[in-house]
Amino acid sequence: MKFDCIIIGSGLAAIWSAKFLNEAGFSTLMVTKNQVWDCNSFYAQGGVTIANDEKDMPLHIEDTLKAGSFYNKKEAVEILSKSSLKLRDELAKYGFRFEPNVTKEGAHSVARVYHKGGDATGREIHKFLFNKDKSFFLDEALVFDILVDNDVAYGISVLHKNKKYNIYANNVLIASGGIGALYKYDTNARTIAGEMQGLAIEKGIKLKDMEMTQFHPTVFIEMKFSQKLLLTEALRGEGAYVVDENGKRFLFNYDKRGELASRDIVSRAIFLHQQEGHKVYLDVSMFDEEFFQKRFPTIYYKLKDYDINVPYELIPISPAFHYIMGGIEVDLNSKVTGFKNLYAVGEVSNTGVHGANRLASNSLLECFIFGKRAAKEIIKQNFKTENKKFEINSEELFKNDDKKYKNLLREQMWKNVGIIRTKEGLNEAIEFIENSMDKVGRMAKLRFLTAKEIVKSALERKESLGAHYRIN
Ligand SMILES: Cc1cc2nc3c(=O)[nH]c(=O)nc-3n(C[C@H](O)[C@H](O)[C@H](O)COP(=O)(O)OP(=O)(O)OC[C@H]3O[C@@H](n4cnc5c(N)ncnc54)[C@H](O)[C@@H]3O)c2cc1C
Repeated sequence: MKFDCIIIGSGLAAIWSAKFLNEAGFSTLMVTKNQVWDCNSFYAQGGVTIANDEKDMPLHIEDTLKAGSFYNKKEAVEILSKSSLKLRDELAKYGFRFEPNVTKEGAHSVARVYHKGGDATGREIHKFLFNKDKSFFLDEALVFDILVDNDVAYGISVLHKNKKYNIYANNVLIASGGIGALYKYDTNARTIAGEMQGLAIEKGIKLKDMEMTQFHPTVFIEMKFSQKLLLTEALRGEGAYVVDENGKRFLFNYDKRGELASRDIVSRAIFLHQQEGHKVYLDVSMFDEEFFQKRFPTIYYKLKDYDINVPYELIPISPAFHYIMGGIEVDLNSKVTGFKNLYAVGEVSNTGVHGANRLASNSLLECFIFGKRAAKEIIKQNFKTENKKFEINSEELFKNDDKKYKNLLREQMWKNVGIIRTKEGLNEAIEFIENSMDKVGRMAKLRFLTAKEIVKSALERKESLGAHYRIN
């Protein structure tokens, strides 16, 4: 069976792209690793940025560029903001309505972040859109290869129920998300491991800005699961403070915007304060309990499970890996550089909108705007591949020691490729990666390839910029 388009992933980028393809009568197969909700989109808390009106657009653009250290691709940011104006109506017409009140998050000049279900925005949007999705769907299917020849993509290889298959299509759209599992502390869904970025490297597909990794400043890391609990930026946007064990709001020593400075600045400040021996907390005691429970239900109940009596008790926090700005280089229609029918959308891609640091809640917006653009481009090009068969890659997908090496990699990345980077640390990380890569199975090797690219890019960029911070 051959599809018009195979979509790798089941997050927002995948589902929103699929909507337009299906509406145009394109047969679409969505393939995902675990269950449909095992994705970062499902866990998004804060919301979706939407410029308030034509007048707010230049300010949204300016905020995005400022947060990104002006390293962003301006044309892409303009598209993002301009297209956002129509998004709320488009979603409403489709049947999805945000809560009416907008909120403000760090580095936004005004309130313009829309949410739903309190802090369960991702879950609400994802559930709604997936219920309406008309794609063919294959879950519990691990993509381990993309079938490419010269500048054409022919399909993918998957492992499903312990069997390997090739599936063919006229177009392939990668919407496989970021790289959370490469770091010891991260906020990402457990499925997000940077494997497709590794595949891209293997296939000679260009990645860009891989050193630009964002660490979220306020994460509750004392959890037994690898995915740590994010404490949304909306908390600080709506009044929560960051304090140390003496109750001091030390962030003002680092930036006059205090809690509302951009994520890279707040994360670094917390990290440095911790290195001086301080403990750091989020103080949410200014919220009324009933309001907190309604506005931030996910956080409220999760913290109660850990015996933290919010909003009365301080929440211990630390920065943790959250988002990668770098990714597969694409054009303004999310088409992969150098390819006729290969697309990348969402966190796996690099459209250039986020520059050196993503403005809060611009990511779901990017999934919406560039997902639609990719779908429209696929429809317009209507590319047909010739019928070509590929051998299935016979490399062993898993080896016995994979878990051990994946954990060592997470330690290395956190220690040496984290919030503050040094030449020595980066070299240590590269050495570890190179010495370990041939000891693991194919899937782990793809992670290692991605990690190596991050470290290489971090070594190449000797000056600090945005989220990439080097002291030597
Ligand atoms: C806790 C949290 C809160 C966030 N809050 C916000 C917010 O409020 N606002 C905002 O704008 N952004 C937020 N973000 C960021 C945002 O959620 C993500 O950047 C965005 O959802 C990415 O969407 P995506 O569709 O590109 O990828 P994802 O939603 O992560 O989906 C990726 C998909 O690819 C699949 N996949 C990966 N590898 C394979 C493989 N080898 N084979 C098969 N399938 C594979 C995964 O299983 C998954 O289905 C948050 C992120 C997190 C982690």
